[in-house]
Amino acid sequence: MFDILIKNGLLVDGTGAAARQADIAIRDGKIAAVGKVEGTARRTIDASGRVVAPGFIDPHTHFDVQLLWDGAARPALAHGVTTVVPGNCSLSLAPLKAADRGRVIGMFQQIEEMPPEAFTQAFEWTWEDFAGYRDALARNLSVNVAPLVGHSVIRLWVMGAASQERAAHPDEIAAMQALLRQCLKDGAIGLSTSFVDVDENARPVPSRFAQFSELDALCAVLGEFGRMLQVVPEFYDADLTIARVDQLSELSLKHNIPTTFSPLFDSVQAPNNVSKVMARVSEQFARGARVWPQVQTRPIDISFSFLNPSLYFARLPRWMRILRQPLEQRLASLRDAETVAKMVADAETFRMAGPMGGLVIRGGDKAPAHYVGRTLGDIAKERGQTVPQALIDISLEGDLDVAFLSANQGHNITDRVGPLLAHPLVHVGASDGGAHLKSFATYGDTGFLFSEFVRASKHLTLEGAVKKITSETAAIWGLKDRGTIAPGYAADVVVFNADTIGRGEERPVFDMPGDGMRYTRDAVGVDTVLVNGQVAFTNGAYTEARAGIACV
Ligand SMILES: [Zn+2]
Repeated sequence: MFDILIKNGLLVDGTGAAARQADIAIRDGKIAAVGKVEGTARRTIDASGRVVAPGFIDPHTHFDVQLLWDGAARPALAHGVTTVVPGNCSLSLAPLKAADRGRVIGMFQQIEEMPPEAFTQAFEWTWEDFAGYRDALARNLSVNVAPLVGHSVIRLWVMGAASQERAAHPDEIAAMQALLRQCLKDGAIGLSTSFVDVDENARPVPSRFAQFSELDALCAVLGEFGRMLQVVPEFYDADLTIARVDQLSELSLKHNIPTTFSPLFDSVQAPNNVSKVMARVSEQFARGARVWPQVQTRPIDISFSFLNPSLYFARLPRWMRILRQPLEQRLASLRDAETVAKMVADAETFRMAGPMGGLVIRGGDKAPAHYVGRTLGDIAKERGQTVPQALIDISLEGDLDVAFLSANQGHNITDRVGPLLAHPLVHVGASDGGAHLKSFATYGDTGFLFSEFVRASKHLTLEGAVKKITSETAAIWGLKDRGTIAPGYAADVVVFNADTIGRGEERPVFDMPGDGMRYTRDAVGVDTVLVNGQVAFTNGAYTEARAGIACV
C-alpha cells in the first residue's frame, strides 16, 4: 500500500530526460516507484494532461523571517517551490546575540527592504545560536529550508561593534571558524558574504571589513563539509565582478567548495558586461573551479512611493537621504524650494531625469485617477514641469501615497536573457524571495521561466527548464536526495499545466505583520505541490500539511 499514487501524468523527472508517461508512487515521504505502478494507495491524484516534476528549488531568498510565521513562504509554495535557501547576502537570523538583533534588523531593512515589524510582531524570538533558529523554524514548515549562515552575523557575534570597524585579529578569525563549523554541524548549507552592502546608516556591513585571509579561513571550514560560499559581488561593474570571479575560483579550487555569485543582470546600457563575465566564468570552470553565476528570469521592475526609501534612488544619495528622513521632516524637505532645486539638479547630473520620464503612475491610495497608467514624462509636459519636479509635486499632492512603476529597467530583452538562462554554466535563481517587499514581487520567477522562455521564446525546452531549477540546483548545492523524481528521492513534487504555468499580475497585498504592504504575484497553472510526500498545496489552497524540513 502506497501513501499517494500520482497517475497518468507526463513525467519530467528533473534530469533533462525526455518527458514520458509514468505513474509515481510515494511512501513514507519518498518516491517509492516510477513507471507502470502496481498496487493501491490511500490517495490517488489524477494528473492527466499535466506535467509531474520535482519541486522547484529557489537558491536565493530572504525568507529567513517570514518562515517563522508563514511556513509556506507564501506564495512561493503555490508556485511549485518546495525548497528555499534563505540566509543570502551575508545576513541571517543566527547566530545572533539578543543584544545585536536591532543591528541586524536594520541591515535587513536597508538591504532587503523589509520592515522592522516583520521581525518584532509575528513570532517569539527565543534563540541565539544556529541550532535554536533551526528548531524555531522546524515547528511550522510547509516548505523545505536549506539555510545559509551570514558572514556579517558571524563577524558580529565574534567582534561586536568592531565588526564594522576593522580587520579581524587571528584569534577572532579562529573564533569565527569555530562558530561557522558549529553552524554547519547544526545544518547550515554554507556561508554567504557581501562585498557591496551597507547598513541603515550607510556603513558597510561587517562582512566588508574582512580581509582575504579571513574569508580564506572561513572557506577552509566550508571545505571540511564541501559546502557553498555565496557572494554578492560588485555587480554594477563587470571588471570588479570578474576580479571576484577569479577570487572565488581560487577559493573553490583551494578548498574544493562550490561558490555562487548574484546578481548578474543583462543591461542594454552595458551590453557586453554579461558576455565578459561569462567568458571568465567559462575559463575558470575549465580549470576545475566551481563559480556559478546566478541569473534571475524576470526583468527588473521597481515600484516605489515617497512613503519609503527605495533602491530606485540608489544612484541619488540626496534623494535617498531625504526619503529616509522621518515623515514630518521628509515632508518639510520636499516642500523646501531650495532643497527641491538641488534634488532636481541631482537628477539631471546623475542622468536620472530622462529615465524618470518613463515612470508610470501605478496607483496608491492618493494617486489622481486621471494619472494612473500614464507616464510621468507625459504628465510633466502637461503640467509644464520638469520630470523630477513633477515626481516630487505629484507625490506631495497625494500625501506621498502615490506609487510609481519603473518597468523593464534592465534584464528585459528576451532574446538576450533567454540564451543566458539556457547557458550550461548559468545557475537559474536569484529571486530574492521574501525581500524588497514594496519594490517588486519576488515570486513567480519559475512560472515566468516557463511562460516566457519555454513557451514564448523557446530558448529552453520543458525538460531543460525543469532541470535548471531542480536537479541542477540540487547538484550545485549538494542537496543529495532532492531535485529528481526517481525511487529513493524525497517526494517533493509539483503537478502543473505546461500550457498555462506562469505568474499572475503584480499586485499589492497587506499581509505582512503590522498590516504591512508587499507586492505579490499569484501562481498560474500549478495544480498540486507535495513536500516530503504530503500534499501542501492543491486546487488553489494551502493545506494543513507541515512536512517541510528545516535543514535539508
Ligand atoms: Zn539577496
